Amino acid sequence: MTSAALQAGLVVGGSVITADGGRAESAVTNPADQTVAGYAPVADADLVDAAVTSAADAFPQWSARPAAQRAAYLSRIAGWTRSNAPRLARTLTLEQGKPLSESLSEVETAARAFDYYAAEATRAYGQTIPTDSATLRSLVLRQPFGVVAAITTWNYPLGLMAWKIAPALAAGCTVVAKPAEQTPLAVLDLVAGALRAGLPAGVLNSLNGDGPGAGQWLAGHPTVAKISFTGGTPTGKRLLELAARDIKSVTLELGGHTPMIVAADAPMDLAVADGVKRSFRNAGQLCNSVNRIFVVRSVADEFTSKFAAQAAKLVVGPGLASPEPDLGPLSSAQARQRVEQHVADARARGGEVLVGGTRPADAGLPDGFYYLPTVVACREDMVMLREETFGPVAPILVVEDLDEAIARANALEFGLVCYLYTRDLRTSIESAERLEFGTVNVNNVGGGDVRFPYSGWKQSGLGVELGREGMAEYLRTKNVRIEIGYR
Ligand code: NDP
Repeated sequence: MTSAALQAGLVVGGSVITADGGRAESAVTNPADQTVAGYAPVADADLVDAAVTSAADAFPQWSARPAAQRAAYLSRIAGWTRSNAPRLARTLTLEQGKPLSESLSEVETAARAFDYYAAEATRAYGQTIPTDSATLRSLVLRQPFGVVAAITTWNYPLGLMAWKIAPALAAGCTVVAKPAEQTPLAVLDLVAGALRAGLPAGVLNSLNGDGPGAGQWLAGHPTVAKISFTGGTPTGKRLLELAARDIKSVTLELGGHTPMIVAADAPMDLAVADGVKRSFRNAGQLCNSVNRIFVVRSVADEFTSKFAAQAAKLVVGPGLASPEPDLGPLSSAQARQRVEQHVADARARGGEVLVGGTRPADAGLPDGFYYLPTVVACREDMVMLREETFGPVAPILVVEDLDEAIARANALEFGLVCYLYTRDLRTSIESAERLEFGTVNVNNVGGGDVRFPYSGWKQSGLGVELGREGMAEYLRTKNVRIEIGYR
């Protein structure tokens, strides 16, 4: 272990667990140079059980607190997050690779989630339903599920986890958080920080370990009442099967394959700038990254040449470098390998690589997982047009008209996000209604706003995250009928 490596601890009950007592730990690789960014203890089955038991023990008191008290705790976590933003952001860049300014913005995203759900906590309204009798009352209560297993992936470690912890705690649930073993450091820091900020013991616990180990033990634990998961569709299916055993509630945010449709009347410069931004941010490792661009033939040459020219200007480098690069490295050797396979497949099937298509030749770069922003003029049978590349690759396919673009967009089994560029209001509305996606953005590529519900359709997910719908996922419904006309 180098002296610069970070050392994280797990939170179970009111204790921070380190590797000092001989517990096994995992090393986190810095994708910018393949050095060790830090270490975190690995939870065995007993520790997973202890974390779930702590959360279950804390649940009665936490759920019984007035919502305003839970809100105050969430506000304190938001404050703690902002006060520690420089450290958390640096940790995110070290473990995940994204440029530091993007990490800072991810930390702020997490803080906003705690602010937003602090306010929502006090709005978990029920209902009173009129009955057929003057002396019968029918109340509808919204009550928390209990212990939530929050399991997330590595591309936005802190943001994705905050989107689960904040609404779950606001609703009155208690939580055991398991980030990806590849990127656990910032999440473990946040959970330990929440404890230091005064959150009662057991309300929020954290684990580290891989999916088949800690992840599966946690999700399969009989005391866990709800699984909230963000990651790949194959893992989501496995968790759904696991949940079926005990009929657990499940919210799944899964993989996508995001189309961008450029209509003949698109505002061209905006479409190009937004398309480049959403294809290459975080080196293309976003669930709402542009995965396939359908451009209508009449504007295809103009769009493609402008897009390629802008993409070629992007700079790749370590996320902590100054001046800051546009793209950091990919998060792992495996992630880069998948990109290389998809680009090789495109080349083999007659695709034309217009920009990039290789690792950078810059001898000054450290030995990280870098790959150049890549633009490919595609034919329709290429793997990258149907499987998520999850890397800095923008495939462009020319289509005859908007109908063909919409049909192609809807043809895959994924339905997370779709971008559409057109100047026509009627086209915007009619197309948005026909597109089979949980989110349709017209003339913008904004995402990740905690106030707006985010849901994957088809094999991109189940349930909703963010917005007030996001908190409702942690509440179950109870009908209370009260007869008051007795003597
Ligand atoms: P995985 O699905 O492989 O892993 C995600 C998390 O699940 C990790 O913590 C992992 O642990 C854990 N896990 C893996 N197997 C199991 C199991 N059997 N039981 C319990 N937990 C398990 O992540 P991917 O690499 O596939 O993530 C990338 C995907 O996530 C992309 O498809 C992307 O689109 C999607 N994504 C979706 C978002 C959305 O909001 N819809 C947002 C961000 C990403 P470990 O890694 O430690 O082994």
